[in-house]
Amino acid sequence: MTVALIVAAGSGERLGASVPKAFVEVAGRAMLHWSLDAIERTESISHIVTALPPGRVAATVGAGEKPAPPHETVPGGASRSESVRRALEAAPDDDLVLVHDAARPLLTPEIAGAVISALREDPDAQAAIAAAPVTDTIKRALDARVVVETLERSDLWAVQTPQVFRREALQRALEASPEELAAATDDASLIEQRGGRVLVVPTSPQNIKVTTPLDLQLAELLLLARERDPA
Ligand code: C5P
Repeated sequence: MTVALIVAAGSGERLGASVPKAFVEVAGRAMLHWSLDAIERTESISHIVTALPPGRVAATVGAGEKPAPPHETVPGGASRSESVRRALEAAPDDDLVLVHDAARPLLTPEIAGAVISALREDPDAQAAIAAAPVTDTIKRALDARVVVETLERSDLWAVQTPQVFRREALQRALEASPEELAAATDDASLIEQRGGRVLVVPTSPQNIKVTTPLDLQLAELLLLARERDPA
């Protein structure tokens, strides 16, 4: 079985809202509830732990079609990885751990299920991560915004969550120094740095991350369209 950790403790400064990002309304519900609902409907999830901004009351679990797995909340930490670490400490001992950002409300049970299956099917891998192929040309530019390199696009992936881990691998990776944890923009990078095998699972580019007001508008449109036409 798989335990799901949802990190929702960020302030979302770049969104400029008056409440933490996970509680901003999108298509009629708090952003967090869209992810909770998708996770509840994912096969083989035994338990959900959500990291919330310290001081926030427990979020109510969304309306799933089957009885929801047990759900508990913990106060998040100063960085995203610290929030993951705290949620993992509160999680039961399942062999697989799925980590998802509440900032991605377009998650579906199919995406979560595909990432879990990919890891189950490769016994040598420590992690599997959702990602979409990059469609833009990506360049590196250094001082004074001068281009130093154009990267080979066919090798590039825009990485999303969910990311699914073997429990011991994630636990070991999260023992990194506070500086390393604060610098990590995802958990898989901590595994890669230790030479671990991480699989990319191609998913829909619709699984966007809400960072700016424009992302919020886009997420709202995509969610409303999905509600109108669930196929
Ligand atoms: O800030 P950013 O949008 O990159 O955060 C990604 C996810 O990590 C969000 O869902 C946010 O709520 C979560 N987060 C957290 N604890 C923090 C910072 C971010 O749970 N200290």
